[in-house]
Amino acid sequence: MKLAVPKERRATEARVAATPETVRQLIGLGLTVAVESGAGVASGFPDAAYREAGAEIAPDTAAVLAGAGIVFKVRAPLTAGEGEVDELALIPDGAMLVGMLEAFAVTERAAAYALKRLTACSMELLPRITRAQSMDVLSSQANLAGYRAVIEGAAAFDRGFPMLMTAAGTIAPANVLVLGAGVAGLQAIATARRLGGRVSASDVRPAAKEEIRSLGASFVGVEDEESAAAQTTGGYAKALSETYLRKQAEVVAVAAAKADIVVCTALVQGRRAPVLLSEAMVASMKPGSVVVDIASDAGGNCAATVPGEMITTANGVKVLGWRNWAARIPSSASSLYARNLLTFLSTFWDWDAGAPKLPEGDEIVHGVLLTQGGAVVHPQLRSA
Ligand code: NAD
Repeated sequence: MKLAVPKERRATEARVAATPETVRQLIGLGLTVAVESGAGVASGFPDAAYREAGAEIAPDTAAVLAGAGIVFKVRAPLTAGEGEVDELALIPDGAMLVGMLEAFAVTERAAAYALKRLTACSMELLPRITRAQSMDVLSSQANLAGYRAVIEGAAAFDRGFPMLMTAAGTIAPANVLVLGAGVAGLQAIATARRLGGRVSASDVRPAAKEEIRSLGASFVGVEDEESAAAQTTGGYAKALSETYLRKQAEVVAVAAAKADIVVCTALVQGRRAPVLLSEAMVASMKPGSVVVDIASDAGGNCAATVPGEMITTANGVKVLGWRNWAARIPSSASSLYARNLLTFLSTFWDWDAGAPKLPEGDEIVHGVLLTQGGAVVHPQLRSA
């Protein structure tokens, strides 16, 4: 069976869905692997490295996808009108498609995949359970995004991060406020601490408070009855009442006014990101301060964020609203993402058939499977 790895063509996308390391292991499953020429270049993996690992290098998208039984992607394939190549049309009917397909955000995608009888697996829908940890693309990518946010925030900040004691005097450490302490936020806290910053962080889930403290940061937040129940059974934050958000805004406002760098990572599944840093809070920050908003793909946590851009406010605060933060550290992000996909495929590999087998009733399959046998099978999309 042939597994195809096309080049990613969406804006800001520098990642690739397989690396030379995972290609070797995919071949070990008995697959033939074809990689589109140039697919790994932006992540630091040249064609020669894939060739050495045993992959065939295909000259273009049509060639890489021809005859493929499995297609590994980072983002959803482009469709007619979305870009220079209609990738979806080139995927053979009946193939398995694995990627971060964002089928909840663009609901017509599932119907298009069903029409081609694809077995489409949307990896960002993976349940956050222990067994799925090694295939958890959201965690692997959020971890790197949180790290990168602090590094880029430090680069944009025109003062030092740690306390610097010199013969000419002492420089105070940077005050860092992290909003949202999920996977990205906890990595941002750890990175800012390693750089010597003084860190505080806010979250609404009850478990987050202890996690924040265990990393040596102080907790900024509201502890009331609502916050005690602010977590879904899946471990995500719930949308909270206006009253709660007002109380939270009061404590965040005090911390923001003192902060040199604010890292925004707060998300609520399936909704626009909550706005936690108002225009007034940004206006209260010192000139030269930096807001790094990695929630920008979901609209941003900061009212001043312009998704995709860096702006400087009237009071001299830089707001970094770049999109797709994991792709800003493409080599590491691709390495982890490629391993996530390899683990997913290996877990459901049927050695006798030399093909994947997705058991009905499996919790992971139930979470990620969008379409199969010509039908939309995901329960949340079937009813949509
Ligand atoms: P996420 O990306 O959905 O959200 C980021 C953070 O924003 C979350 O911590 C959330 O509580 C927080 N947030 C939402 N609204 C907020 C507000 N108004 N103010 C401040 N913070 C707010 O979350 P995630 O990083 O994907 O993690 C989600 C959960 O899944 C966590 O509980 C995490 O520990 C858990 N998880 C479990 C596993 C596993 O067991 N396999 C793997 C990864 C994550």
